[in-house]
Amino acid sequence: MAKHTVTLIPGDGIGIETSAAMQRVVEASGAEIEWEIAEAGASMVEACGTPLPDSTIEAVRRNGVAIKGPVTTPVGEGFRSVNVALRQALDLYVCLRPVLSIPGAGGRYDDVDLVIVRENSEDLYAGIEFEEGADETRELIEFCRSAQAGAIRPDSGISIKPVSVTATRNIVRYAFEYALEHGRSKVTAVHKANIMKHTDGLFLRVAREVAKRYEGRIEFDDRIIDAFCMNMVIDPTQFDVIVFPNLYGDIASDLGAGLVGGLGIAPGANIGDGCAVFEAVHGSAPDIAGKNLANPTAEILSAAMMLDHLGETACASRIRKAVCQVYAEGAVLTADIRKATGSTHAAASCTEFTDALVAAL
Ligand code: NAD
Repeated sequence: MAKHTVTLIPGDGIGIETSAAMQRVVEASGAEIEWEIAEAGASMVEACGTPLPDSTIEAVRRNGVAIKGPVTTPVGEGFRSVNVALRQALDLYVCLRPVLSIPGAGGRYDDVDLVIVRENSEDLYAGIEFEEGADETRELIEFCRSAQAGAIRPDSGISIKPVSVTATRNIVRYAFEYALEHGRSKVTAVHKANIMKHTDGLFLRVAREVAKRYEGRIEFDDRIIDAFCMNMVIDPTQFDVIVFPNLYGDIASDLGAGLVGGLGIAPGANIGDGCAVFEAVHGSAPDIAGKNLANPTAEILSAAMMLDHLGETACASRIRKAVCQVYAEGAVLTADIRKATGSTHAAASCTEFTDALVAAL
């Protein structure tokens, strides 16, 4: 009998290809995993009336651990993001995204090793939205005017940005505990507290309060988001653990990925007190889906994070070592990395790259 049961949500788009590659590599690493497949996304809407069936949420809750391929979210209209809904349903309040240089993967720097800790439950992602022209939107606009909170144009749509003391305290505490546990020395809080005093200002105030409890053990500083972006591009090695409200953390994740070789290699995890869902930073990449061109590294490194979480640290290390070896050799690279490195080798397909990884294990 397998040692661990893991819910696998393959997702759609390139998720179909990257999830299959991930399964192959995890199995070849020697990890004993029984996969329980659960579906989510547009294909579920007809069958279940929702892109995120209760049975999928229940499966993750029951097993406590899941790995998920990307799921497409229609832009502007249609259903809400399955990814956001899953994080909310399971209270996965931490989004953890390591940004690590892999020599040979085409990054601008060889020595980036930082960790993005993104609040995952509120901010502009809370899904509290008011459609332009709707009655409630008009009432809200009128309320803001009468409360002298400010004039909003009548033809506006509105998204609400809640930032709570509770969620901020939880995420900042997680960042500090993570730093302690992983031998890291500094936590940086990123915000726009100079402009949004009651949301980002609160985030910074609570972060400072939490930081006091770690004084002498973990260093603390803060940056304004725009200056942070510039500093990341100029010298990302000045950062260690970085904690963000939801939206800035999302954007910074792609920025971080871009500095070390791109979305094809950026792993992540969504973590709550009872469950964890591991997933790459990237989306379903409709432009290359179904062509066997996707780079599966990000999902494979997400699986390595999952194996660490399950206590299978030897299998996780074996996978990371194989990934580093294949990139260091540089002969088998998917198209995204080939472009980033300027390699003259022919681009490898997702399957060929996975074959090379399995051979290196
Ligand atoms: P994306 O991450 O899917 O793609 C951005 C660019 O990066 C594309 O050019 C794509 O080809 C490339 N890329 C991404 N992953 C790659 C990989 N593994 N290998 C090679 N190239 C890769 O972002 P997008 O185009 O903005 O979003 C597409 C869809 O994915 C949208 O519906 C979006 O809502 C969804 N999405 C889902 C998740 C998730 O499931 N967690 C995350 C982000 C976006």
